[in-house]
Amino acid sequence: MENMRRLIAGNWKMNNLAARAEQLVQAIDNHSKSIINNKCDLLICPSANLLQMISKQLVNSPIMIGAQDCHFEEKGAFTGEISAKMLVDVGASYVLLGHSERRHGLFETDNVVRAKVKAAHKESLITIICVGETDIQKENGETLNILESQINGSLPEAKDKIKSSNTIFAYEPVWAIGTGKTPTLTEITEVHGQLRNFLIKEIGPEASRLRLLYGGSMNAKNALSILNIDNVDGGLIGGASLIEDEFCKIIDIASE
Ligand code: PEP
Repeated sequence: MENMRRLIAGNWKMNNLAARAEQLVQAIDNHSKSIINNKCDLLICPSANLLQMISKQLVNSPIMIGAQDCHFEEKGAFTGEISAKMLVDVGASYVLLGHSERRHGLFETDNVVRAKVKAAHKESLITIICVGETDIQKENGETLNILESQINGSLPEAKDKIKSSNTIFAYEPVWAIGTGKTPTLTEITEVHGQLRNFLIKEIGPEASRLRLLYGGSMNAKNALSILNIDNVDGGLIGGASLIEDEFCKIIDIASE
């Protein structure tokens, strides 16, 4: 398997007002500029209201900006929603789709995620498609089945459209998100290896170049061991991305 450039992505969720966002982004940007021979890409996914401000702040920075969701239609009578085109318009180049807080908390189905992936690709947004099992599904030994069905259900039918340049997957066990719990290193190794094989079977050789992120309570203490696992090509980080010291330590680890 070729060595991929790692991606460290911060998912701020519904956190940070403008003043704090500006301060946090500045700290991350200053820190990332101090790293020589950086071997990782950086992405920040703030709430939609902050995208334009942060994209102006990062205009001369390699740090990329992503949204946390989009609607599947381009425009129209969808009160409260935001389209992929609108996200691009305010500076986003990535979008998280199918996060478990949307799948489970807001009853988002695979079909809806698939429509969003198509809409995002149409606007040339890079999609980070999140998949993960619940604790009960894990206890029942259903992890792989759940991940495969979420992937099959969320990917556009035209698999030849899935490229390493437009699609990333994040394995995020639902029970590990925001809980401080993580799977064992052996479990992450197994799941990421199985995911890679499954994606190659479904998509073809291009899938060997897709980045697979791990997400779920990643922090400065566990990042080194998790990021060194085969087929873990970066991290999707929630809580720890809100604390500059913690996030910058993860960036340092991923940059080595
Ligand atoms: C997430 O929400 O994508 C996430 C991984 O959160 P946390 O790091 O807080 O578990």
